[in-house]
Amino acid sequence: MKKIGVLTSGGDAPGMNAAIRAVVRKAIYHDLKIYGIRYGYQGLIDGNITEMELGSVGDIIQRGGTVLYSARCEEFKTEEGQRKGIEQLKKHGIEGLIVIGGDGSFRGAEKLTEKGYPCIGVPGTIDNDIPGTDFTIGFDTALNTVIQAIDKIRDTATSHERTYVVEVMGRHAGDIALWAGLADGAESILIPEQPDNFYEVIEKLKRGHERGKKHSIIILAEGVGNAVEYGKRIKEEAQFETRVTVLGHTQRGGSPTAADRVLASRLGARAVDLILEGKAGRMVGIQNNVLVDHVISEALAQEHKIDLDMYKLSNELSI
Ligand code: ADP
Repeated sequence: MKKIGVLTSGGDAPGMNAAIRAVVRKAIYHDLKIYGIRYGYQGLIDGNITEMELGSVGDIIQRGGTVLYSARCEEFKTEEGQRKGIEQLKKHGIEGLIVIGGDGSFRGAEKLTEKGYPCIGVPGTIDNDIPGTDFTIGFDTALNTVIQAIDKIRDTATSHERTYVVEVMGRHAGDIALWAGLADGAESILIPEQPDNFYEVIEKLKRGHERGKKHSIIILAEGVGNAVEYGKRIKEEAQFETRVTVLGHTQRGGSPTAADRVLASRLGARAVDLILEGKAGRMVGIQNNVLVDHVISEALAQEHKIDLDMYKLSNELSI
């Protein structure tokens, strides 16, 4: 293999740049030519492809977002879209591809692999919802963004003796809510993996109030429901002054934490090694602090599991 490509696809995540840097530098270290494909699979179809040098990835390890930009591309889900992408790969002589993104992006990588273009997936998403890895690139940064915000909310919540409902990202996975809740000592954590326990939440709020607590923080993952509605229900049921904050896309940005930069560097470099070893249709990951790789289809057939022991612990610590 002499020429490989790299793209970022789907939802962006802090640390994607550190992963791109690792892929580019590791490829050049192995005397490969490395091409950057902008705007994910859309850019692949459009031929938005340029060769990258050592300097192309200078001064990006600390930046959020992705210098290769990202996109969603419905056309690539079709045979015709994939054929167009392959034509571009042929035109540039690119023999293998590293795809940094979430599970949707990995499905695209699988399709290309089936059609004879070896791909390796690098898990980049703030949601931490990809099976086959304990952590995804961007999760730690998003988590730190959330806890910094909640620390600030806590100050004002105390001054005014208020209950706050804070909505964080996570349509299907409650990892951000769970970890942020434990890290921030939230009174209640609402995640899609657990049944709604509204009356327990209310009971806990009342108990806290009777003990003289000045504030309460409830963290709600977006997949559970609407935070504004939830805040209204609390106010109606318990008559507590309730405010709602939706953290939204702040969670997607910002300079990646050290943990995300290190993870991205390790996973990006490992992906290049795998492609050089002739592996294809696999994703890299980290499990028990050891780098691993799995067949994409086998990994994605598993269900992402949240750590329910942590959920139990957060309840025990916030009695
Ligand atoms: P993420 O990678 O963050 O999960 P998406 O699910 O939006 O984000 O997927 C990103 C892109 O990956 C899609 O816009 C599409 O181009 C490509 N993709 C997703 N699913 C498939 C599929 N089944 N076949 C081919 N390409 C796909």
